[in-house]
Amino acid sequence: MTDTALETKVLAGVPTQLFIGGTWRDGAKGRTFGVEDPSTGKTLVQVSDGDADDALAALDAATQAQADWAATPSRQRGEILRRTYETIIARQDELAMLMTLEMGKPLSGSVGEIRYAADFLRWFSEEAVRVDGRYTAEPNGNGRLLVMRQPVGPCLFITPWNFPMAMGTRKLGPAFAAGCTVVMKPADLTPLSMLALTNILHECGLPPGVLNVVTTTDAGGTTGPVIADPRLRKLSFTGSTPVGKRLMAAASEQVLRVSMELGGNAPFVVFPDADLDAAVDGAVEAKMRNIGEACTAANRFHVHRSVIQDFSERLAKRLAAMKVGRGTEDGVEVGPLIEEKARQKVRSLVDDAVSAGAKVLTGGGALDGPGYFYAPTVLGEVPDRARLLREEIFGPVAPVVAFDSEEEAISAANATEFGLVAYLYTSDFSRALRVTEALEVGMVGLNQGLVSNPAAPFGGVKQSGFGREGGREGIDEYLNVKYVAVHL
Ligand code: NAP
Repeated sequence: MTDTALETKVLAGVPTQLFIGGTWRDGAKGRTFGVEDPSTGKTLVQVSDGDADDALAALDAATQAQADWAATPSRQRGEILRRTYETIIARQDELAMLMTLEMGKPLSGSVGEIRYAADFLRWFSEEAVRVDGRYTAEPNGNGRLLVMRQPVGPCLFITPWNFPMAMGTRKLGPAFAAGCTVVMKPADLTPLSMLALTNILHECGLPPGVLNVVTTTDAGGTTGPVIADPRLRKLSFTGSTPVGKRLMAAASEQVLRVSMELGGNAPFVVFPDADLDAAVDGAVEAKMRNIGEACTAANRFHVHRSVIQDFSERLAKRLAAMKVGRGTEDGVEVGPLIEEKARQKVRSLVDDAVSAGAKVLTGGGALDGPGYFYAPTVLGEVPDRARLLREEIFGPVAPVVAFDSEEEAISAANATEFGLVAYLYTSDFSRALRVTEALEVGMVGLNQGLVSNPAAPFGGVKQSGFGREGGREGIDEYLNVKYVAVHL
């Protein structure tokens, strides 16, 4: 099938309504909104625009389904996740095309995300049967302590546009494995991948009411009443820190359990003893994956003065050679930014740095449209006062700054309110451990530019949030601990 035929096929097949209680239906008000292709600015399809009534109907369905789902044998829940994993992999080309159309990333990047997203379902299909408790003797020998772990209950998930499927499966996999039901609100810029996934989960046997999806252009108005509803037990959010703070405040009313995967400002630190070839490869990956629109994207490069020129020149050469274009085209490595507002933000950060004295080593400006393209950019001699060293760039821009000592590198890396991930390149083992221990982050890429892995606990510290997704820790977010004091 040609790419154009595949485009037509996936758009014709994608569901565009709300999914509530096992049924696809229009929103209560019958409204819709358009989903745009960021590489052309054209509307792809119209999707139902739900509101608070729809979200509360979704919570009704999730609440009704909760007890049966929690009582469903964990093996059975795990097998639904496993079948879904296999179906996603079998359909990865179609799903990748859909993701590229709505989000803009190159097809290879979409295939990468689809596999990563599916892998969370595989991982948690395996974890579902390993939820355990413990039985111990009281230290005084008189009684016994029984500890059990039970599903938290109905959850609300709010996810961002940048990884339209994986940010969902990182939450859905552990929630379903633990026995929780869900109301899901995907981002209005990229709802299609989540709708396609919902269809597959349904096809693979997920019972009605276990997953309910509400798309909307009014995120706050639609989710607010759900967060205020005493039937909800948990809120898990992935997105920006300012929105996360507002949601935490709202969640405090019901003292909800909360997980927050928020913004980042990742430092990428290159010591003089680093393998420079590996550091440049890692830098390209950490910066350019997802067009720089990743919470884990390297936001600033701190490079030892003795190697900074070599490193910067090589990085600039690599980024300058990357093919920019519509993600569906052959060989494209860099797609458009998600929308004009995002491009304006990148433009203003680069202009600010340049006016403060930074030197443009490659790129440095927006590219002709249609679509929201921005040239892969490397900036040298970036002064401390440049905003892009403190703010999340979320675009293909790499600012490089020099350091002279290990202490200076650590202090610069930690000089941010964020604490999601840091990348560290060194061939000195002692330094690697010393610096890793001193970094105020939830994750470290040690001589590698990618940390995302379903088998690992993903998450941040400081204003990058709390809670972990993936790994053995991921399922704990969806389990309550109950202890029983047993009298003998
Ligand atoms: P965002 O603006 O915070 O939006 C995230 C989600 O929250 C979207 O579904 C959005 O809905 C919804 N939302 C916005 N305002 C809301 C409100 N008042 N009440 C309830 N929901 C609300 O973030 P974004 O621009 O989509 O994503 C980029 C940010 O996410 C970056 O800061 C990035 O670092 C962060 N991120 C973090 C991680 C991580 O794991 N730590 C992963 C990916 C992204 P609409 O879009 O429909 O308005």
